[in-house]
Amino acid sequence: MAYNQNNIFAKIIRGEIPCQKVYEDQEILAFHDINPKAKTHVLIVPKAAYISWDDFAMQATSSQTAALMKAIPIVARKLGLEKQGYRIIANHGHHAHQEVPHFHLHLLGGNPLGPLVQS
Ligand code: 5GP
Repeated sequence: MAYNQNNIFAKIIRGEIPCQKVYEDQEILAFHDINPKAKTHVLIVPKAAYISWDDFAMQATSSQTAALMKAIPIVARKLGLEKQGYRIIANHGHHAHQEVPHFHLHLLGGNPLGPLVQS
């Protein structure tokens, strides 16, 4: 599957669609999810064109990977989540219900989150 330059997160990164920005650097944009599943639900999105976790993990440069790892605690601290805790989720593909084909991490917190997976 080829990367689609017209997916919604590509448009947000290009500034064509607004977002509620939490953090930005050269490699990363983080913004509030439009349909939050916890009190705090932020999407941490590498700016480079990767479809999913699997694509990113296989293809990204070391500096892109490091930037993503560092962005997680930076965003968590900005939102005051580091003491009480938070959860990071990456959905890859159909079985994981990935909706947007631009790689992103979900950062959830602000309230107890319950079990990891509900059947
Ligand atoms: P996925 O299922 O791909 O892992 O998650 C996609 C997430 O993107 C969903 O939680 C959904 O609510 C969020 N989302 C979809 N469209 C938009 C949008 O236009 N703006 C924002 N901020 N979030 C979006």
